[in-house]
Amino acid sequence: MPVSDTDRVLAEVDRAADEIVDFASRLVRIPTVNPPGEEYEACANAIGDQLRAHGADVQLLPAVGKVEHTSRYPRINVVGRHEGTAKGPAIHLNGHFDVVPAGQGWTRDPFGGEVADGRLYGRGSCDMKAGLAAAVFAAAAIRRAGVAHGAPIEISGTVDEESGGFAGVAWLAENRWLSRERTKCVIIPEPFGVDRICVGHRGVYWFEVVAEGRIAHGSMPYLGVSAIEGMSHLLDLVRDELGPVLAGRITTMPVVPEGSRRATININGIDGGQPVDDTPSPCVADRCRAVFDRRFLLEEGLDRTRAEIVALVARAQARMPDVRFTIEDRMIVEPTRAPEDAPVIGALTAAIARVAGRPASLVASPGTYDQKHVARIAGVPHCVAYGPGELAMAHQPDEFCELADILTATKVLALAVLKLTNE
Ligand SMILES: [Zn+2]
Repeated sequence: MPVSDTDRVLAEVDRAADEIVDFASRLVRIPTVNPPGEEYEACANAIGDQLRAHGADVQLLPAVGKVEHTSRYPRINVVGRHEGTAKGPAIHLNGHFDVVPAGQGWTRDPFGGEVADGRLYGRGSCDMKAGLAAAVFAAAAIRRAGVAHGAPIEISGTVDEESGGFAGVAWLAENRWLSRERTKCVIIPEPFGVDRICVGHRGVYWFEVVAEGRIAHGSMPYLGVSAIEGMSHLLDLVRDELGPVLAGRITTMPVVPEGSRRATININGIDGGQPVDDTPSPCVADRCRAVFDRRFLLEEGLDRTRAEIVALVARAQARMPDVRFTIEDRMIVEPTRAPEDAPVIGALTAAIARVAGRPASLVASPGTYDQKHVARIAGVPHCVAYGPGELAMAHQPDEFCELADILTATKVLALAVLKLTNE
């Protein structure tokens, strides 16, 4: 029987199984902790060397012009490119190589890259160095199999996703390494699981409200205006009126966990009046500040979301006219969703069916990740996340990724990429 291209590519992934795990383990052993952004250069070099060994043309790209890019903590991204038989836009695989701090509660070395019980352990094993290894070796398997691919294949390793990705994917997009002209589609191997394709995420409206009152002696509070009391009116409105309204709004996006299909608001922090641990001074609080984290749905849109907050603050103001309220935007991320008929979704769905032997499910993320920069700055709407590991494992102590999942995801990525390059 003739051996198909698909079979040859899958055989190359199987042959590389140990190499893939070794490489992922090596990446875990480089403690790219963010903040502050440790060892980025070493990790970019490790990825670059591996890509070069597979025959890719490799560029190391310092995020020049970003304030985060300092001599102490340089922000270095890496892009490798395998030319295809055709010119034109590339299929791009992107993974972030920064990891959150290890935190407490580990029973293993968080940066040991330990392989045991069929798992790779360590901070970043799941989120998302296993995914990066899968991306690097998916392209390698196609090359090693000697199967022609039309469009170029690019693999990038980027920094700072855990802190917003501004010196990472945003920088790549601003500097046109990712763009509508250059990039056909992007797959980000974040850990959504080997049979789930993440098509997008909700929006973020992160804002701060400052209430200003008037100071007075605490024994004569009626002579002052309490900013804390003013803020409490706003908090009442958020809990009693906005909260129930938001809970009634449900997106059609397949967000998981399902609770996050509803619009939400969280009060991230509050401070006001005198610091409570200091020596007390009897004063009416003349200032109170709260930070809110509003996650909004594609169907709501930013304008409506913002207008709703402005109206709510105006009502708090009306309840307590002597307090002055101001709203300040902190961070805005628009919701994003790849079009349902995007070829990248079709290619991954077919590859999952073939490799994992079960149907793919489409999901969306309650939080955001680098897809926002691909969609908004690069202008590439055909972007999804697909990668090994369980989302619930990310940022946990004893974080791990199943070795079998790494292999499955590498195969799925290889078949999907091969199909996309020849479409
Ligand atoms: Zn991640």
